[in-house]
Amino acid sequence: MTKVTLNSLVVEQISKVSEAGQYLWQREWAERNGGNISVDLTEIFGEVPSDLSAYPHCFLKSVGEFAFPKESAGHIFFVKGTGERIRDLKTPQDAGCVLRIDDQANGYHVLWGGRGVDNYAPTSEFISHVEIIMAKQKMGSLDRCVIHTHPIELIMLSHHPEYAHDEMMYTQMCWQMIPEVRAFVPRGIGIVPYCMPGSQKLAKGTTEKLMQYDVAIWEKHGAVATGKDALEAFDYIDVANKGAKLFLGCLASGFIPEGVSGADLLDLKQTFNL
Ligand SMILES: [Zn+2]
Repeated sequence: MTKVTLNSLVVEQISKVSEAGQYLWQREWAERNGGNISVDLTEIFGEVPSDLSAYPHCFLKSVGEFAFPKESAGHIFFVKGTGERIRDLKTPQDAGCVLRIDDQANGYHVLWGGRGVDNYAPTSEFISHVEIIMAKQKMGSLDRCVIHTHPIELIMLSHHPEYAHDEMMYTQMCWQMIPEVRAFVPRGIGIVPYCMPGSQKLAKGTTEKLMQYDVAIWEKHGAVATGKDALEAFDYIDVANKGAKLFLGCLASGFIPEGVSGADLLDLKQTFNL
């Protein structure tokens, strides 16, 4: 199979995906093939091969249910493959691929990686990732990477009968456990009520939440965040999870935490212009 040569900017972005993938695995947030990562490389990719017929042309199985947004035509992504393990992203040419969404936004050409096979498929959440990144770009955001993972304590808190259904309370609880969460997850955490993984409903709900919040929680399932690269997207989830972990640790120790006071949280907001 023909392969393109990746430039240093693209290699750097993909190496950040590999690095973030190792963190997700080490934190036990990425069991088996759980979670997925993609990054939009369109602006840094450079010249696209003039004859794409030399590259495998594939179509998503889920076309018909929902499809790539039309404005994503011609966009180039690195994305984890379906069924691949996040921990295996240390060899990104196997656990993922670089693909170009075709001019009709009906399918894609695999330009690099994908184990060198002709029918390599991206994660089943890929359309959802593309929708999120297109919506972010439309609002002028520099975010190019989407991470979905299974952060243990954020998921635990999304099972809580009160916090799971009140994103204000959920965010407040994480913010008040340590000043860093208030500072580095300043737009807070939104909650998408439980729905079927891979569904259009979940994709739509996630895109809406990420227009407003830094992290979207999928109730009883996981979290999604975006960033300009994989490390920044990882940081949002990592910092948010610290808040949830501290809160649940206090409950497990038998006491309800006092939390940083409302006045002190307001002081942080004003001091750091959050
Ligand atoms: Zn998941």
